[in-house]
Amino acid sequence: MRVTEHVHSLLLHFEIEMPGGARIPCFVPAYVIDTERLTLVDTGVKSSADVIFRYIESLGRRPEDIDLVIHTHGHFDHIGDMRAKNTSGSVKVEGVLEEGVKIDLGGGAGIEVLHTPGHSPGSVSLFMPGEGALFCGDVLPEPGVLPIYEDVRQTLESLDKLRALRGAEILLSKLSDQIWRGENVAGHIDAGEAYLRRIDALVRRAGAEIGEGATVKDIGARVFSELGLPGAGLIPIVLTSIAAHLALKPALESTPG
Ligand SMILES: [Zn+2]
Repeated sequence: MRVTEHVHSLLLHFEIEMPGGARIPCFVPAYVIDTERLTLVDTGVKSSADVIFRYIESLGRRPEDIDLVIHTHGHFDHIGDMRAKNTSGSVKVEGVLEEGVKIDLGGGAGIEVLHTPGHSPGSVSLFMPGEGALFCGDVLPEPGVLPIYEDVRQTLESLDKLRALRGAEILLSKLSDQIWRGENVAGHIDAGEAYLRRIDALVRRAGAEIGEGATVKDIGARVFSELGLPGAGLIPIVLTSIAAHLALKPALESTPG
């Protein structure tokens, strides 16, 4: 769907197969920026290319026109189908993005890079000032969604950086299937931060209640039950988030401050 004059969002659906054979339905958005330089922001999972190609054709352009592919970070559900860039063989990484880099998309359009670690050390967010569009990748914890971050303090600092950005009118967060506009942009960043702080408080309470010998998994199970999240979601990357809370001293305040 078209989000702004040049930005389009595609919701890509896939399943994760768990060790016991259960299949968990998931989604991840990918973005097409239809400017002089046809650009993709993240490319979904393996097998997403056909959906992305069909969408590009519906815009009257060709997959071969893709000039630039930008990844917000290196997780499998964002880089899975680099075939979207090159229909045969592997793809060479042409550059590493850093804070403050500006990318020219032609026709007066451009992207500014913000380093927003926390979800992963190298996560970046992208801002298109001309459209007011902010792509925050996976850095914003999404209420009701599995918590995935490696560093709690860095996540909070990154959220502060996003909140301080002037002119962000549209928030494209990859952990959500919704798009946030206007004053809801700041409101949704606040909601993500409140969720992170709530998890911090629950992790500490669970640790105290279970007591001596509590494992990260024990604590995670109790926190998940409080949050109403499925126990099957306690995958290793989520246990990393629980461990990140345990490593944080002192505890966070429970309300954004
Ligand atoms: Zn990720």
